[in-house]
Amino acid sequence: MSKILSSIIPGLGERPVIFDGGFGTRLQRLGLPSGVPPAMWNIQNPSAVCGVHLAYLDAGADMVTTNTFTSNRWFLGDKAEEATAAGVRVARGLGRGVVALDIGPSGRMLEPFGDLPFEDAVEGFARTIAAGAAEQPDCILLETFTDAYEAKAALIAAQSRSDLPVMVSFSFGENGRLLTGLDARGVAAMFEGLGAAAIGANCGMGPDGMSSIISALARSTRLPVFANPNAGLPDMESGQAVYRLTAEDYAPLACALFNEGAWMVGGCCGTEPDHIRALRASSRGLSMRARPANVPEAITSASRTYDASEIVNISDALDARANPRFREILSGISGADDQADAAMELAFDAIDEGADALRVNLDGLADARVYRALIPRLQQESRAPLIFTDIDESAQKIARRVYNGHTITSEAWKEGGLG
Ligand SMILES: [Zn+2]
Repeated sequence: MSKILSSIIPGLGERPVIFDGGFGTRLQRLGLPSGVPPAMWNIQNPSAVCGVHLAYLDAGADMVTTNTFTSNRWFLGDKAEEATAAGVRVARGLGRGVVALDIGPSGRMLEPFGDLPFEDAVEGFARTIAAGAAEQPDCILLETFTDAYEAKAALIAAQSRSDLPVMVSFSFGENGRLLTGLDARGVAAMFEGLGAAAIGANCGMGPDGMSSIISALARSTRLPVFANPNAGLPDMESGQAVYRLTAEDYAPLACALFNEGAWMVGGCCGTEPDHIRALRASSRGLSMRARPANVPEAITSASRTYDASEIVNISDALDARANPRFREILSGISGADDQADAAMELAFDAIDEGADALRVNLDGLADARVYRALIPRLQQESRAPLIFTDIDESAQKIARRVYNGHTITSEAWKEGGLG
C-alpha cells in the first residue's frame, strides 16, 4: 500500500512532506457562527473554505485535508453526504496539492464500552466515505481516533467503498496510549495488518509531547509515519481552548518529528498558516529516515501489546477440537448469546490459570455468529490476546473482522508460529 501512497505523494520518503494545519478555528475567525458545524460551510460558504485551503497551500503545505472532519451522520444527519461531497469538490477545485478526504470519529463510544454497534459504525462511515470518494480525492485520512476499534470500523468502511490508500491517525494520551489502552506499537501492528497505507498521530498534544509516540510508531511499522500535533497543550480561558505555541517555537519542535522517523508533518488544533510556513522553511533539506525492513512480530488484545515470544501459555479452553467441554457447549446449547455466556466461564477459568492467550476454534459446531457475541465480551473482560485457528474460512473471516486487535494469520499458525 505504501507504494500506492508514494505514487500519489511526490517525494514521499525522500524529502519532508508538509501537511496543512488547523481548520475549525480558522473558519470561526472568518465568521463561522458557533453552533454551525464547520463542514456545513462546504455547502453554504465554499469560498471561505477555499480561502483556508489556499492559505495553507501558499504557506507551503503539500497536503490538502478536506473540511469534512465531522461530516458524518452522527454530527450532520442526512446532510452528511452532501457536505462531504462538497468538501472534496472545494479541495479538488483548487487544482493543487494532494487531496485527503478527512474522516473523524463518530463522537460515540463503540460497544461494549458505549452503545454504538461495530457494524453500525462501519455502515455510518461507509456512507460518508462513499460520498467523498465519488468526488475523487487522492487518498483518505482517518484522524483523531482514540479507539482503535472505531478506527478499524472506519478503515473497513473505506476499503469497502474505495480503492484509495487510507492513512490512519490516532490521538494518544500523555501516557502514550489510546483511550482504550493500546500503545503505539500495538496500533502500528494492528493497522499495518489491516492494510492501512500510513500510520500517524495527531491532536492531543504538542510536537514535543509527540516525539516518543512518533519514534515508537517508526520502529514498529514498515509503513510511512506522519504527525500532526497541536500548537502545544491548550490553556482554558473563559471556556475556550487557547494554544500558545507560536510559529517560531512550533517549527523546530515539529521538525524534530522528521528526525524521529516521520515522513509527513503538519499541524492540528491551534496551528495556522504561519506555523506551516515556518515548518516548511525549517524542514528544507532534511533527509528522511528509512523505514525498518523488519519489525518484531507483535500480537495485541484490545488494550495490550505483546511480543510473539512472550506468548508461551496458550489455552485451548475455547478450541472445540481440543476441549470436549467447549464441544459440549457448542453442540448442547442453542443460540449464539447463550453459547457465548457458557464459553465465557471456560475463558475465565483459563485466564485465572494464567493463560497468555486463548486459541479460539468453533470447529464447525456452531454458527460463526457466536464470534460476534463472544469476542467483544472476551475482549472487554480480558487482556489476553486471541488466536483464531478456525479452519472454516468464512468463520475465521468473521472472527478477524470482529476482533479488536492484531492476531497472527492462520498461515503463520500453520507454519508453526506461536505454537
Ligand atoms: Zn487537534
